[in-house]
Amino acid sequence: MMLHLAEHVHTLNAIWRNPHASRATLDEFRNRKLRRLAAHAHKNVTHYRQLFDSARIRTGDVQNVQHLERLPLTSKDDLRLRPLQEILSAGTDPATLVTHMTSGSSGKPFTVHRSRLEERLINLFRLRALGQAGRRVSDRIARIGEVPLGGHRRGRADRLRRALKIYRDYHIDCFQSAESIAAELEALNPDMINGYPSALGYVASRRELLARVHPRLVVTGGELLSAPVRGEIERAFGVSPIDFYGAHEFNLIAWECPAQGVYHVCDDNVIVELLREGKPAAEGETGEVVVTGLHTYTMPFIRYRTGDIATRGSDSCACGQPYSTLLEIQGRVVDYFRFAGNRRIHPYEITGPLIESESEWVFQHQIVQESEDAVRLKVAPRRQPGPHEMDRLQKLGRDKLGPQVRFTVELVDSFPLVAGRKFSPYPNADYDGSH
Ligand SMILES: [Zn+2]
Repeated sequence: MMLHLAEHVHTLNAIWRNPHASRATLDEFRNRKLRRLAAHAHKNVTHYRQLFDSARIRTGDVQNVQHLERLPLTSKDDLRLRPLQEILSAGTDPATLVTHMTSGSSGKPFTVHRSRLEERLINLFRLRALGQAGRRVSDRIARIGEVPLGGHRRGRADRLRRALKIYRDYHIDCFQSAESIAAELEALNPDMINGYPSALGYVASRRELLARVHPRLVVTGGELLSAPVRGEIERAFGVSPIDFYGAHEFNLIAWECPAQGVYHVCDDNVIVELLREGKPAAEGETGEVVVTGLHTYTMPFIRYRTGDIATRGSDSCACGQPYSTLLEIQGRVVDYFRFAGNRRIHPYEITGPLIESESEWVFQHQIVQESEDAVRLKVAPRRQPGPHEMDRLQKLGRDKLGPQVRFTVELVDSFPLVAGRKFSPYPNADYDGSH
């Protein structure tokens, strides 16, 4: 098995310098990494060898990022259907690898494998972004998330970190009541709080419980952060959350620029393409997020369809760092609702105006197509809506769906979190990125 040690050392040397480098230097770095990755995958990974050969790609055809579009796309299902040996670098012993299960939201488990070295290397990009967001070595960090049965196992490294008072983190179970989460937060008095937007939004909606919780920093990630939830978190904790966008396959993909309110693409960890019907989206346009991980040779991801959609921002950030930007991450590619007579309506046609004009009272929403002629909108309100507000919602749905479709608006107290699943406003959506 090849360790690609020299390449990783080269990356390690660049990680802390890249945010201060010129775009030309960063491009040179990306071209070098992509060239080596593509050559490696072509030679050593059966899936990519067969894929590239069938597209008549020759070794050496990919010299720089502009050549990437010559390569075919890969989806999660393409990889899931292959035996493990065909998606791992030849000669790799799976027993030596770190694994991440991505069963979370897809319901179709897929396990990502990396070498320990790759795991640590790409995690440095996340640590770098957290440092930019303002995390300090001495911070006490509360992680609100799923706590495995019996609690997290604490290793020697954890005990050492706590003894030295560096990078101390504490896990809080997000499936408790808001009262319990708030009580744990108050007892812990964390400098930083980290968690899913839905979990932080859930406790933040009970602002009165959090009067004595004053973190310096709130970091969200793992699912879509909507504007109303962002506002709720901001009001409850007194700081604006900084959102991280990542995936098990890559670790960090993008993080919010603390200065500008856009996302920096982690251009030295991944190549992000935003595609609209196969063509690159222009600035301001949305596209499907297709990602290439530059440092993972063990199980390469090249032009991998994430199934997420995002809006392309400018190619450089006004803050001066050399990273390209995303204006917004909309989350999963959402399917159209389909009705009799081949009629289809995109759920955004209803939820878009809803977010636009009703977010003053709508805290969270979920829209489900229940049958060929029925759609239900569930709304967790911030406060009891007036009759005219309910009428407006009814009218919005009726106008978009037409008289043939029964449209129901249901008020709910909250959307309970379900273990192992992320919250989605669009539960009908295909969560596999395969469509
Ligand atoms: Zn920036």
